[in-house]
Amino acid sequence: YTPLAEIDPEVQNIIDKETWRQFSGLELIASENLTSRATMEANGSILTNKYSEGLPAARYYGGNEYVDELEVLCQKRALQAFHLEPSQWGVNVQPYSGSTANFAALTALLHPQDRLMGLGLPDGGHLTHGYYTAKKKMTASSIYFQSLPYGLDPATQLIDYNGIKSSAKIYKPRLIICGASAYPRDWDYKTLRAIADENGAYLMADIAHIGGLVAAGEQANPFEYCDVVTTTTHKTLRGPRAGLIFFKKTGEKAQDLQKRVNDAVFPACQGGPHNNTIAGIATALLQASQPTWKAYAKQVIANAKTLGEELVARGYKLQTQGTDNHLVLWDLRPLGLTGSKLEKLCDLVGITINKNAVSGDASAQVPGGIRLGTSALTSRDMLEPDMKIVADFLHRAVQLALVLQKEAGSKLLKDFVRVATVEEEGKEGAQKV
Ligand code: PLP
Repeated sequence: YTPLAEIDPEVQNIIDKETWRQFSGLELIASENLTSRATMEANGSILTNKYSEGLPAARYYGGNEYVDELEVLCQKRALQAFHLEPSQWGVNVQPYSGSTANFAALTALLHPQDRLMGLGLPDGGHLTHGYYTAKKKMTASSIYFQSLPYGLDPATQLIDYNGIKSSAKIYKPRLIICGASAYPRDWDYKTLRAIADENGAYLMADIAHIGGLVAAGEQANPFEYCDVVTTTTHKTLRGPRAGLIFFKKTGEKAQDLQKRVNDAVFPACQGGPHNNTIAGIATALLQASQPTWKAYAKQVIANAKTLGEELVARGYKLQTQGTDNHLVLWDLRPLGLTGSKLEKLCDLVGITINKNAVSGDASAQVPGGIRLGTSALTSRDMLEPDMKIVADFLHRAVQLALVLQKEAGSKLLKDFVRVATVEEEGKEGAQKV
């Protein structure tokens, strides 16, 4: 029971620095949030000590009476948070992350080398939706399955549903995945269901980003149309880092799905569940089921809309001109500035953002945009007037980045960077900008 600070001051010191970074800066990464103290307590609990391979009441280890109680509670809360009937839907709460949840879902739904279609990464999709490049298949979802990406309509930058329909007719995927990491608009699940049915495909929604907003009823409901829904628990849902897989229990496509999903998580893809994380998920889901959650989700969206409008008011361009959810995709290309440079500069001034490809980008390595999200700032009770101030900070950061870019070759700037580096790190040389 000796505290961390005594046993390992080095790690404690790093945690203290990161705590200060998180609380003193502005967290605008769309996939991040600030969990509640209660969730962190559960996540950091003694449950980390326990092995419990298997499912409640069917474990491969003894001593699981309380862990069983916890996992059943977590499942119940997951269904409640998303307003699902236990007779219609089941859930597996064991995935270690969104990526493992997705790979387990693919394992459950497909045979090796079956075909799937997902939104392409450069258009906002996720790696786990079948991403590969002309040079390499670097994701398990493209190594073990065949995949054909779908994309955005270049004119509107919205999902090209007609394109999906015509590609699916030829490609005949066994699975269509909807959901994204960087798409600021809502999804038309009904149309995708019709396309899936025309081709005998499963429909899976990955609501990793918008899970908390879906739970609040503030986005279209994927459960009305999909066979499987996966989510992470740590983005808009504000839980610990993990994933969930919801599967339909009724209907023709649901046959056997419960067993296939559960078997895919364990033993196909994972070993023992992280029970401390499951406790954290349960607590976060309890919080996401409270009446106050709807107000939180509404505010996340209102803040994102305001942030977008304030950037537009300052002359900037957004992908799709705005947002329906928690994120804004900011196209920096008209300024001749890359997302990487603005990300670096913002790091130096305590604003955390991430570079992101915007529609039509030639390279994902040097993306022309920035993805901004409002979940974390909303967890800090920020409101629309605060977003105006945040937009001002971002505007000032862009102006500074443009000056630095212009002056990048100058001796003055090089000297400045060197002096700043020496002051900050106490050593000569390392380049900062
Ligand atoms: N799915 C989507 C849409 C995501 O955006 C992400 C992560 O950003 C994931 C899955 C993977 O989640 P994790 O990082 O927890 O593996």
